[in-house]
Amino acid sequence: MKFHSIWHCICSTHIELKLVWKEDWFEQLFSLVTTMNTQGDRKAWFLGSSGCDPPRSIHGNPYRLVLLGPPGAGKGTQADLLCHTLGTCHLSTGDLFRAAQCQVEPSPTLKDALAAMRRGELVSDDMVVALVRERTRCLRCQGGFLLDGFPRTSAQAKALDDILTKESLALDAVLSYELPLEEVVARLSGRRTCSNCKAVYHVVARPPRTPETCDQCGGRLMQREDDQPDSIRVRMHAYEASTRPLTEYYARAKKLMPILASGTPEEILESSIRALKDRLQRR
Ligand code: AMP
Repeated sequence: MKFHSIWHCICSTHIELKLVWKEDWFEQLFSLVTTMNTQGDRKAWFLGSSGCDPPRSIHGNPYRLVLLGPPGAGKGTQADLLCHTLGTCHLSTGDLFRAAQCQVEPSPTLKDALAAMRRGELVSDDMVVALVRERTRCLRCQGGFLLDGFPRTSAQAKALDDILTKESLALDAVLSYELPLEEVVARLSGRRTCSNCKAVYHVVARPPRTPETCDQCGGRLMQREDDQPDSIRVRMHAYEASTRPLTEYYARAKKLMPILASGTPEEILESSIRALKDRLQRR
């Protein structure tokens, strides 16, 4: 894979939300200035290399969080907002697979994984766990981490527990975003992504100024292959069968924090931060 295409994949999957810092981090969320920008501070995660360079700075305690929720619940958006509020790294396994789609000559195993992704199916546990294991240094990040889209099965949750135990790290909480099925389907089927800068729109809730054209860069808006109706059905089935049981797993471990994912991204962020703050004050 050529360097410039790796770099394009890294940069184009990242949105920076600039933050105006205030003394109390809880107030920071009211000061979010959402500007689209590109940056490569997740490059260690994308490249599987040895860690952030330069190492991330810490704002108080690092947060180590997992995000759960059905496809379309807005985990990616919340992950970006939370990461910029809490100073954690956003680690998304789905982003890894989307970036891998840029590879000119994928290995046979990667080809199978990408085909599974296009059908809306889960990629094999072995492959996903191997990818995360290769990136253990990212889990040790001084700024903490926010895992988005991993774990997704019980086997992956156990593998994550193993990795964290070996590294003497503990999860602070698992935020589980809940949304009724009809709303999930409406959100996913209307989602459009810029083929160039990856900005996300919705045909009803957040339409572009010019139909099918990105407001930011003028790129063409596309529907993700796995947002087509057939793939949505398969993804929802995979979620119900494999990922929903994880809410019980983390409830038993007393890590689960259910969050209602209706409302604007800022409202959902506010609920997440409040719930986190309550929980962490009690620990
Ligand atoms: P996401 O963006 O998290 O919805 O992920 C997009 C697709 O990548 C999923 O539908 C799966 O095909 C694949 N994928 C991402 N993360 C995982 C995972 N932890 N386990 C299995 N497949 C995954």
